[in-house]
Amino acid sequence: MKKRKDLSELKKVLDKKLKKKIVAMLAPSFVVEYEYPAIISRLKDLGFDSVVELTFGAKMINREYHKILELPENKNKLIIASVCPGISSFIEAKYPQYKKNLIRVDSPMIAMAKICKKIYPKHLVCFIAPCNFKKNEGSSSRFVDFVIDYQELNQLLKNKKTTENCKNSRFDKFYNDYTKIYPLSGGLSKTSHLKQVLKPGEEKIIDGILEVERFLKNPDKKVRFLDVTFCKGGCIGGPFVSSKNLKKNKERLMQYLEIAREEKMPKGSEGLIKKAEGLDFSY
Ligand code: SF4
Repeated sequence: MKKRKDLSELKKVLDKKLKKKIVAMLAPSFVVEYEYPAIISRLKDLGFDSVVELTFGAKMINREYHKILELPENKNKLIIASVCPGISSFIEAKYPQYKKNLIRVDSPMIAMAKICKKIYPKHLVCFIAPCNFKKNEGSSSRFVDFVIDYQELNQLLKNKKTTENCKNSRFDKFYNDYTKIYPLSGGLSKTSHLKQVLKPGEEKIIDGILEVERFLKNPDKKVRFLDVTFCKGGCIGGPFVSSKNLKKNKERLMQYLEIAREEKMPKGSEGLIKKAEGLDFSY
């Protein structure tokens, strides 16, 4: 595993002591923890040169899931989503017999890091994560230079003055509305149009590791696709999310979706597929 660069090194980059540019990739659950759009200015005030969210990476991953589930050889096989590294680690450690069922497609974080390295070739990439599983996943990828969690970011943001125009801040690139619901349980299924390739009853959404384990012990043979998350509620229930009120967290996310739908985006900031051309999202 690649050694994770530590927070002190990140601070040097943010303080411009290393003369390197850096892009922040915000996990889609960010809006449960931070005010939007103020968080974008706050990150720039910290020293991030660009700020993007992961929605475009999620969109690219959805396309891969669709393609794989459509293949005739996968029609009678159980496929388990690998967007949550908590699930992948759990299966590898406790249910290795299901390792072959984990879909070999990057998570939105790794996909987005690959896209960032293409679009910002000279920037370092820092992912801001809701859990330690994501931190471990990012630390073992050559496309991610730093991973910090919400608590670490809160520490960095403490005592930092916010710019006045924070209400007008926007993500720099890769807007994509509909995958903003990814951090909800079932967000992957709801945004990837899998109903086109799966029959009723062939898809199952499970959140919470105990329920996932229950299924793995006694699988329903009709299910072909498992959309699963380690945390209850999905990433909005991640361990570094301060609020433990899932109902309120979901409401915040849905409000953000509404705001984002109405927003005017800077020209050229859309998440267009051609921006990811030539990238391979399988592993
Ligand atoms: S569901 Fe939980 S463990 Fe999985 S990626 Fe989200 S926050 Fe991390």
